[in-house]
Amino acid sequence: MKRLVLATRNAHKIAELRAILVGAGLHNDLVGADTYPGVPDVKETGITFAENALLKARALAKATGLPAVADDSGLCVDALGGAPGIFSARWSGRHGDDRANLDLLLAQLADVDDPHRTAHFACAAALALPDGTERVVEGRLEGTLRHTPVGDGGFGYDPILQPLGDTRTCAQLTPEEKNAISHRGKAFRALAPVVRELLG
Ligand code: IMP
Repeated sequence: MKRLVLATRNAHKIAELRAILVGAGLHNDLVGADTYPGVPDVKETGITFAENALLKARALAKATGLPAVADDSGLCVDALGGAPGIFSARWSGRHGDDRANLDLLLAQLADVDDPHRTAHFACAAALALPDGTERVVEGRLEGTLRHTPVGDGGFGYDPILQPLGDTRTCAQLTPEEKNAISHRGKAFRALAPVVRELLG
């Protein structure tokens, strides 16, 4: 069974990605980057999700000598020209402060009426092999933005993104319901056959 390293140390994310990839028919030995102490953190210096996902996968493949998978994701708001985009995790200035990021975004959109509150979550999933082979695929979840947060589940901007065709926010979906339609679910389900083709 060929080992695949996932570019995350977050146990929740490793479990989520494992569920998606196994569900997509991958039978690789999937381990998190924490299995390899000393793997350096990568600066996300790209200006697209795809560039940042590739940067992370490439660095991990180089450091471990194993095939590596990484993702980069965020929320793209049409009325803001696609922002916060790659800056989603640090929109308020503090990396990973979900509540501050969400509050700032809602304040910025205070005067934007419902028909113009369209947005999508985007995810790029990248595979890098030690021999330099690279692939990247993308997935999206389209929706509209609520005026106030609703729901206790999920993370980040989940309480304000209502998927098209649903009356609930992402924070009101079960993890299984979200995986089935999410940007990350779509990107990793698209990556699975690529991994199979390249790794056998
Ligand atoms: P990453 O970890 O660099 O991919 O940054 C992702 C950031 O985008 C997170 O910190 C969230 O703010 C936002 N984001 C990405 N995916 C989701 C999602 O599924 N729900 C809510 N927020 C998300």
